[in-house]
Amino acid sequence: MPLYSIAVNDICHSDIHQVRSEWDGTQYPCVPGHEIVGRVTEVGKHVSKFHVGDLVGVGCIVDSCRHCTDCEEGLENYCDNMVGTYNFPTPDAPGYTLGGYSQHIVVDENYVLRIKHDEQQLAAVAPLLCAGITTYSPLRHWNIGKGKKVGVVGIGGLGHMGIKLAHAMGAYVVAFTTSESKKQEALSLGADEVVISKDATAMAVHQKSFDLIINTVAASHNLDPFLTLLKRDGTLTLVGVPETPHQSPNVFNLVGKRRSIAGSMIGSIAETQEMLDFCAEHNIVADIELIRADEINTAYERMLKGDVKYRFVIDSQTLKD
Ligand code: NAP
Ligand code: ZN
Ligand code: ZN
Repeated sequence: MPLYSIAVNDICHSDIHQVRSEWDGTQYPCVPGHEIVGRVTEVGKHVSKFHVGDLVGVGCIVDSCRHCTDCEEGLENYCDNMVGTYNFPTPDAPGYTLGGYSQHIVVDENYVLRIKHDEQQLAAVAPLLCAGITTYSPLRHWNIGKGKKVGVVGIGGLGHMGIKLAHAMGAYVVAFTTSESKKQEALSLGADEVVISKDATAMAVHQKSFDLIINTVAASHNLDPFLTLLKRDGTLTLVGVPETPHQSPNVFNLVGKRRSIAGSMIGSIAETQEMLDFCAEHNIVADIELIRADEINTAYERMLKGDVKYRFVIDSQTLKD
């Protein structure tokens, strides 16, 4: 088992959901954090893939059963016994995993990712480990590329990565936001168009035109205005996981054009490595705001107001023993 010196960790909205037990089952004390990057400081004697000094990342998964169909197909993110980076059962004390708001983490080498970006980009690479892979995976699964029209709903940590990745894959990208203030910036992130989702007239322009819409919004809302934007056989993929369910969609909006509502959870270890390599090749990183550990509570409050562009990164040097 290698030991990592963690340089930085980010704040994902999932951290807020879990710290506040919005998904139930949070065990306290909880150490959140699943977008972790740093250098290897020590390796166990059976470790062969990594060496001391390597630049590495740890995302949302630190173990899985390794023998179910999902694991055998390389999709351990769907394993029923996947071990998440924090708040999942483990034989190690205290009985559940502790995440990246820490100075070190010990992880099995099979769940560690190699980072090929430059070291100066390290803080901005960390969000790729959850926000990046969670949007990359559905883009790949639904074969997004040139000639496809993709919508990204919610321009937060996940959404801003979804825009960058879909753009780099060659798709026509439309960003949907509730925040007028993000309009200009979304264009610079790579969106071809930006629509204020509360503006029914602006929404109507895009009726029946999308192949895929990725919905990252962290709160329950009406999905019908987005369903009607899908073309025949189009898919609305939910990646945001609100505390309370969305209202049921109007079934006519599904059957009339054989549309689907789907969900997608992070991505596998292999796909996360593929995404990191894709990002290194296309020089893609997240837009971040670096904070000290004593600013985490304020950062949570600001995130809940949508006031972050677009990911807070905690400098682990500022964490105390
Ligand atoms: P975030 O940075 O807070 O972004 C969420 C965005 O949703 C906001 O920036 C905002 O964008 C939009 N939004 C609109 N109305 C909102 C409301 N009432 N409350 C909150 N957001 C609202 O969050 P994130 O880190 O991207 O995470 C988004 C969601 O994905 C969370 O539920 C998180 O738990 C989930 N998640 C899922 C997976 C997975 O595997 N499926 C992985 C990671 C995270 P605008 O201002 O543009 O409207
Ligand atoms: Zn996350
Ligand atoms: Zn498994």
